[in-house]
Amino acid sequence: MIQPVAVLGAGPFGLSTAAHLRARGIPVRAFGDPMVSWRDHMPAGMFLKSTPVASSIDCPQRGHTLADYCDAAGIRRLVTDEDIIPVETFISYGEWFQRTLLPELERVRVLSVDRGTGGGFQLELDSGESFAARAVVVATGLSGLAHFPAELAKAAADGPAPTGPVSHSSQHHDLSPFKGKELIVIGAGQSALETAALAAEAGAQVRVVACGHGTVAFGAPPWKQPKLRPESPFGRAWSLWALSYYPHPYRYLPAQARHYLVRRVLGPLGAWWLRDRFEGKVQVEEVERVVGADVSDGSPVLTVRTHAGATRGLTADHVIAATGYRVDIAAMDFLGHELRSRLAVSRGTPKLGAGFVSSVPGLYFTGLPAAGSYGPVMRFVCGTEFASPRLAKHLAAAHG
Ligand SMILES: Cc1cc2nc3c(=O)[nH]c(=O)nc-3n(C[C@H](O)[C@H](O)[C@H](O)COP(=O)(O)OP(=O)(O)OC[C@H]3O[C@@H](n4cnc5c(N)ncnc54)[C@H](O)[C@@H]3O)c2cc1C
Repeated sequence: MIQPVAVLGAGPFGLSTAAHLRARGIPVRAFGDPMVSWRDHMPAGMFLKSTPVASSIDCPQRGHTLADYCDAAGIRRLVTDEDIIPVETFISYGEWFQRTLLPELERVRVLSVDRGTGGGFQLELDSGESFAARAVVVATGLSGLAHFPAELAKAAADGPAPTGPVSHSSQHHDLSPFKGKELIVIGAGQSALETAALAAEAGAQVRVVACGHGTVAFGAPPWKQPKLRPESPFGRAWSLWALSYYPHPYRYLPAQARHYLVRRVLGPLGAWWLRDRFEGKVQVEEVERVVGADVSDGSPVLTVRTHAGATRGLTADHVIAATGYRVDIAAMDFLGHELRSRLAVSRGTPKLGAGFVSSVPGLYFTGLPAAGSYGPVMRFVCGTEFASPRLAKHLAAAHG
């Protein structure tokens, strides 16, 4: 029997990769909970920062863009840069994409991936099944990679939790329990600012603590974007245009530059449409850094160092760390020890070659784990347009 290719993940990158592989006639078994990061780990009522043109899941067949979904669902077409996308619409789009192009998706977790005999891989599923795959695509996205700063650890003795003093933004879907409470949100990116605005709208008293150089700022609306610069899915700028459409040479940059750009390009900046919902409703503290966190009478106390060099304590009923995600192969514990020790990594991220293949032949990474090699565009849905056809082409040539 021909061994299938296993695709781990049913978010935008996993669904897109599986659609491309299937279109090439390659047998695929795809696993995961479709769109779970969006459904369970982002706040209800959120809007996407990306514009409609940058929010389609790539596939080789026509008729599966976000606009096509709007037509099929009989809802208003989201097409212009001024159309902002409700997360609920995007989740429904992803689920429609899955039902249409990948109906045989298996809603099962992959527990382990190890080297198999004859150059392939052996996988164990939480259904108890074990099977052999000729190649494996890791598209597990944000899962398990939430970054919780060590400075907050003391206030989260049992780990971050929405019901404890300190949590991570990925642990919140419903912000209404904060009604009437004092809330601190750490961070200055879109996730921090939108979480803060939504919590304030739900009736919380919210303070955003922005650290380091991260001041609170918002992007320019589409009608104020500079006209003489090229258009990209992230706005008009030469750098964004190059990173969006030409990520090929990115992996040849020195490691320091690659990792810096992944963190800083498209970094902390609120969406243009969030400004009115944020300013005047959320208090902002810009500090040098959070030094530590404690708990007093069950409530968190943050110790911060101000830009003037003073130390201050900030109190609230709860602290949410909207401190993003960090790729770390060590956290991908479904990859067997032997595989992990054979993977070439750079600062915890897999070093990928042409076609998104890792240093272990047959083992591919796409989406966020590929950002260290192919740049910041891999952190966003529009990165599927570059990644999926190239990955599928490479895999078909090497293992088809
Ligand atoms: C608050 C927030 C807002 C964002 N807004 C935007 C935006 O506006 N536009 C944009 O382009 N991007 C946005 N992003 C980034 C976005 O999350 C990613 O671009 C996108 O989700 C990545 O898709 P993915 O398929 O790689 O992973 P995910 O969407 O994280 O999907 C991961 C999949 O892997 C599966 N999985 C994990 N482990 C296993 C396992 N062991 N076995 C089987 N399956 C497994 C899960 O079930 C899931 O299906 C945002 C992120 C956050 C946190």
